[in-house]
Amino acid sequence: MTITTRFAPSPTGYLHVGGARTALFSWLYARKHGGQFILRIEDTDLERSTQESVNAILEGMAWLGLDYDLGPFYQTQHFDRYKAIIQQLIDQGDAYYCYCSKDELEQLRTEQMANKEKPRYNGKCRDLHEAPGDREAVVRFKNPQDGAVTINDLVKGTIVVGNKELDDLIIARGDGTPTYNLTVVVDDMDMNITHVIRGDDHINNTPRQMNILKALGANLPHYAHLPMILGADGARLSKRHGAVSVMQFRDDGYLPEALLNYLVRLGWSHGDQEIFSLDEMVKLFELDDVNVSASTFNMEKLLWLNHHYIMNGDPAHVARHLSWHIGQLGIDPADGPALVDVVLAQRERSKTLVDMAAASVYFYQEFTSYDEKAVKKNFNAEAAQVLAALHDAFALVGEWHSKNIHDVIVELAADLGVNMGKIAQPLRVAVCGSAVSPAIDVTLTLVGKEKTLARIIKAIAFIKTLN
Ligand code: GLU
Repeated sequence: MTITTRFAPSPTGYLHVGGARTALFSWLYARKHGGQFILRIEDTDLERSTQESVNAILEGMAWLGLDYDLGPFYQTQHFDRYKAIIQQLIDQGDAYYCYCSKDELEQLRTEQMANKEKPRYNGKCRDLHEAPGDREAVVRFKNPQDGAVTINDLVKGTIVVGNKELDDLIIARGDGTPTYNLTVVVDDMDMNITHVIRGDDHINNTPRQMNILKALGANLPHYAHLPMILGADGARLSKRHGAVSVMQFRDDGYLPEALLNYLVRLGWSHGDQEIFSLDEMVKLFELDDVNVSASTFNMEKLLWLNHHYIMNGDPAHVARHLSWHIGQLGIDPADGPALVDVVLAQRERSKTLVDMAAASVYFYQEFTSYDEKAVKKNFNAEAAQVLAALHDAFALVGEWHSKNIHDVIVELAADLGVNMGKIAQPLRVAVCGSAVSPAIDVTLTLVGKEKTLARIIKAIAFIKTLN
């Protein structure tokens, strides 16, 4: 038996954190067992599904690196199959046409509420033999009336639901289109899904889906329902908690491996370990170790992980992601130093790639103004003299690299009898526009000799305009 899992998003919005975690856990489980992972787009709700959402889901999956062996499979391309199964269920007596109108159902509901009963369909059309005139009909599944459904959930444990609790669910709408629970069942059956891993908001659907699968004589998959993700305030994670869309995390400067590492720990643990490479996740992931209770999204921890991956990731890989952010700033990376060198220089001080890109603009572009505070603190007549001396010494440097630059600064400090800071800070403001940058020799190497000399001259001229 090949372990087969699926991620089955409805394309009614972007790929959010909860969906991404479901996708990751399903992907991990398939990969761990050398199985198959399927991406199934559940787009049968024609009113709410959009191509834009489909694209966002595909983009999110690709950015996270969650590859699939089959798909994207689109449910809207399989209506014939669903219709055939609906007909089969009718033919074998496991489904029936229901002619009850909206008003009748509403009235029933009001009565049940008034009697303090749980609102549910009363099975009025269950045993009808003839259509009551020319009325539009939905198709309902004939749920068993006795016995119970037992879910041996791999996360939540055993859950028993009496069939009396389950009313006859609509499997085809009046226009003949299949409903969510029917399409899920047909596809899980046809795709030989062995493990349905999904959010626990679907747990109420599970016994109904199991009953339909049984009626179709299908093998029942194992189910694993993942606990909810909460925001810091204890409410279900949603837009108002900030970034919940996967692509928003990309935009905010996160690395995909940081988000994946964060997501895997959201509801799953392996001892006290916090850092997991993808290979380790695949090796160590077990559904048994998924928490039963909800997990809380913690932005600080994600940021910490992001910094970890920026610091420890392959600089060439980090540079590829940085390149996108640099591009977002309208900068052509060809106009300055190799991005990989920028990563090495900036990674220690950058928690996100957005920070890193923003702090690296001066390597590629001329800045138009100096930081005011830095000017007040570091630009004065004495600084102008230091800068002039630096300019002349730098002009003589043959090979423009850290060691030579460093030597010039040390020598000048000795000649002038001042400490390094008196030299490095005005120089930094002159070359970067602010008093913050990586080590000055590294900074100047990256800026390049020509630009350094030109910016020093410009700064001297600027200092003369002060007072
Ligand atoms: N399409 C459903 C959703 O996006 C998921 C269905 C399932 O995983 O069974 O919530």
